Amino acid sequence: MTDLGVAVVVEDDEDVRNLVEAVLSQAGFEVHSAAGGREGVDVVRSRDASVVTLDVGLPDIDGYEVLRQIRQFSDAYVVMLTARTDELDTLTALHTGADDFLSKPFRPRELRARVAAMMRRPRQDATGVAPGDALVPGLEAAVSAAAVNDSVLRHNGLALNPDTRSVTVDGSAATLTRSEFDLLHALLKGAGAVRSKTELVRVVRGDYYRADAYISESDERAVEVHIGNLRRKLGEDPLDPRWLQTVRGVGYRLAPERV
Ligand code: CA
Repeated sequence: MTDLGVAVVVEDDEDVRNLVEAVLSQAGFEVHSAAGGREGVDVVRSRDASVVTLDVGLPDIDGYEVLRQIRQFSDAYVVMLTARTDELDTLTALHTGADDFLSKPFRPRELRARVAAMMRRPRQDATGVAPGDALVPGLEAAVSAAAVNDSVLRHNGLALNPDTRSVTVDGSAATLTRSEFDLLHALLKGAGAVRSKTELVRVVRGDYYRADAYISESDERAVEVHIGNLRRKLGEDPLDPRWLQTVRGVGYRLAPERV
């Protein structure tokens, strides 16, 4: 197995499958693929995939059902490949637990941007240092380093451990996707500073180091969906949030500490 781990491509279109396989292999993943949904679930399970690209339109079961089954045993970073620029499709993908989406047809450049985000996803290891952390400049890097040394962040009954990538709320474990975890981590580290949706897209994508990277409105809506899922999983009261405050027209911030 390579350092980056295993990527699985679930795609029935051979041309698209070959393209995605090539980009992932070049990035350094060990790549396996499946042309159908049921086979895809099996391969993700047997290969212990850390990254999955998942076509929505498959010959047997559709991508959403594949994702639902994968999520029962895996927290792999899942990118859905949707056939249309249909916003419903992309929002459905995110609501069902995908980390990102890409509309077909896509340019290899766009796929590589998603792969950069995948590569930042840490395999859980003893140090808890994510491969991408070194790319985070200045203050963020200092805060990251501090977080690694004195790792657990606590706020209003929530505890987040970056080393184990685990979260508890009032002592009970919360099961978050990687994107949800990264967003929560960024807001906790921000200690009340407002983070714009654009910044948070970069948190999800892991491309702090590419300040000129294009961010679309649908990317920002994806962040809104992730935050919505996060609130639901944390049991947040929308009228009186303990953790995630909306700053209208801008983004989000950590709610004040309760005394
Ligand atoms: Ca297809």
